[in-house]
Amino acid sequence: MKELIMATNNAHKLQEVRQILGERFLVKGLAEIGCHEDIPETASTLEGNALQKARYVHDHYGLDCFADDTGLEVEALDGAPGVFTARFGQMNGYGESHDAEANIHCLLDKLQHSENRHARFRTAIALVMDGQEHLFEGIVEGEILRQKSGCEGFGYDPVFAPEGRGVSFAEMPAHEKNAISHRGRAIEALVRFLLNT
Ligand code: IMP
Repeated sequence: MKELIMATNNAHKLQEVRQILGERFLVKGLAEIGCHEDIPETASTLEGNALQKARYVHDHYGLDCFADDTGLEVEALDGAPGVFTARFGQMNGYGESHDAEANIHCLLDKLQHSENRHARFRTAIALVMDGQEHLFEGIVEGEILRQKSGCEGFGYDPVFAPEGRGVSFAEMPAHEKNAISHRGRAIEALVRFLLNT
């Protein structure tokens, strides 16, 4: 079985990928290869960050690896917060990095007077395998609600409503969200490639 590292410590992400890839690939997380350092994510694009993480593992551990990076791109904010999605609130004086409440609060304030609510989640996945680099992408279009709705999921889910559903991500069961989400679609593209190689 071919071994592949996913550059994450997020158990949910690992489980999702393992479920899709089944028995054909042995997917390991960072802890399983003894990688406990903070891998730098200092690029100015999602693709750049994903490549930075995948290359780090490949170069330091000599293993094939893939990594993901996700951003929320809001039309009325010229594509922001994008690569700064996890730290949006903190950067604008609303709280700590990775604080979902602060991020949502900040976003709703910025869009308070905006009629244009269009936004999309975009995930980039970089794969470094057999000495070659590959990029994959997954997008889900939608809109930012005026207030929070639902309590499933994480991050911006309570204020993001995917196109044509009439509910927020936080009102959808996990399997329904995963079937149409940015990350689900990017993983599908990765898996299609892996199963054909
Ligand atoms: P990451 O690259 O997967 O760590 O995602 C960066 C940030 O985007 C997270 O900290 C969340 O704030 C946000 N995010 C990513 N995926 C989702 C999602 O599926 N729903 C809501 N927020 C998300």
